[in-house]
Amino acid sequence: MSYFIFVTGGVMSSLGKGIAASSIGALLQLRGYSIKMKKLDPYINVDPGTMSPYKHGEVFVMEDGCEADLDFGHYERFTRIQCSGSDSLTTGRIYEKVLNKERRGDYLGSDIQIIPHITNEIKEFIKKESENIDFTICEIGGTIGDIEGFPYIEALRQLSLELGKAQTMCIHLTYLPYIKVSDELKTKPTQHSVKQLQSMGVQPDIILCRSEKDINDEIKSKISMFCNIQKDNVIVALDASDIYLIPHQYHSSGLDKQICKHFNLDDDLLEKRAEEAIKSQWDPIIKTIISPKKNVKIAIVGKYVKLKDAYISLNQAIIHGGIANEAKVEILWIDAEDNYETLLDKMSKVSGILVPGGFSSRGIDGKIFAIKYARENKIPFLGICLGLQLSVIEACRNVANVKNATSREFSESGEFVIDFMDSWESNGVTESRSEIGNKGATMRLGSYPCKIAENSLAFEIYGKTEITERHRHRYEVNIKKYESVFQNAGIVISGTSIDERLVEIVERKGHPFFIATQAHPEFKSSPILPHPLFSNFVKASMER
Ligand code: GLN
Repeated sequence: MSYFIFVTGGVMSSLGKGIAASSIGALLQLRGYSIKMKKLDPYINVDPGTMSPYKHGEVFVMEDGCEADLDFGHYERFTRIQCSGSDSLTTGRIYEKVLNKERRGDYLGSDIQIIPHITNEIKEFIKKESENIDFTICEIGGTIGDIEGFPYIEALRQLSLELGKAQTMCIHLTYLPYIKVSDELKTKPTQHSVKQLQSMGVQPDIILCRSEKDINDEIKSKISMFCNIQKDNVIVALDASDIYLIPHQYHSSGLDKQICKHFNLDDDLLEKRAEEAIKSQWDPIIKTIISPKKNVKIAIVGKYVKLKDAYISLNQAIIHGGIANEAKVEILWIDAEDNYETLLDKMSKVSGILVPGGFSSRGIDGKIFAIKYARENKIPFLGICLGLQLSVIEACRNVANVKNATSREFSESGEFVIDFMDSWESNGVTESRSEIGNKGATMRLGSYPCKIAENSLAFEIYGKTEITERHRHRYEVNIKKYESVFQNAGIVISGTSIDERLVEIVERKGHPFFIATQAHPEFKSSPILPHPLFSNFVKASMER
């Protein structure tokens, strides 16, 4: 039988529903169950690809090239499953589908309504591809009461009715504000939020209470009574100093046990198995996070430094790199638009410099300045996507003396060492993109293979000659036209596409650690399996 868990949020946003859903997935996996993670987002965008990372946080790229909400990053990092575009649904996507059907005449002239047409699509999405999976965990975006969220709650009400409680459950994540003067945790907002859910016909089975203080029996009883829920199913989700402490914390509060009890899967043997798996998988990670053996400071020179969520996967991948080295990495966020003096001052305090991905010309000069500084002062450097493109431009300008070397993305004229490329070969198929297409359609997106040269730093890091990494970019290194310039600039091309037309990895000889990749390796890193590029970058920085 396949079970469905719906994770809803109440009281307010930003309570960490994505991390809660991911932790639930991870705990069920530790019991030996297979899981699938799905996200239902009530916003009207068809996908988050066009949303500004400055407002909404990072756009996460899946293996199949789908651009998704950053919560998918948490899902993959906590559970190491690979999600796909078909696991993500938005209101925009549903309407697009329903309207296309309407245009085709599929509804035979009947009027189209939220119930049943929209809700049916939502239910179909929840159920699809779940046959061979033990648990499908569906996170419903937004907060109970949001106008956009109604059809989703209605769909899960219907589905619970159709499949029955034995196959479905709703976990509601709420918040208990702590009032300092009276030293009290308040349950009223939770009561209101649950009432709202109940008024839509949905009774939560577990209430997960985000709180900065542990909850006592009295509070549990109160929530139990007012929210019509078993006391054992009122579970505390204490604020954690680090997100990777959460699966263990939830387990200690009995969350996975109560979930299994609900589905009649309570089993001492599996409980023991989970216990042991947590010890072997998560405890070493927790140990490093709580008491790291070493410390290292690394700078990220970027554009969206004020909203950390804009670089969430990157941030996490660096933390994973630290875990691999039993170290705590302190990340110094540097705004690429700071003046050179400030940049220099900040960079003098770090042992490693990273220039991340990005779009448009904002902050370009500061990033190039940072790369030059890392190159000349032999500071470990990792460039990602735009970071690779700028490291090529920097070397062309300052080493090969091609002063007007630039990218087609931010200049109208000059030597376009980074240029638009309209077709290339991948896996024996010619792929192409057009400069005038939809904004989203022109990018190289998703997983692509890369050939790595032996005797290179890249080979030392990856330990193999063929890898795959995820991509999200429009422009490419113009190797066809400028190969000799690159040689003069000391750029070593150590990774290319299989047909060698696209540059994937560049590095420098005579530098302790200078490497840049056209891909986004951060999307494939997890605390359990840190990505080798990041663990080696952190290691090199520690050795400086
Ligand atoms: N703006 C660059 C491009 O489109 C780099 C993109 C990125 O860093 N993700 O090619």
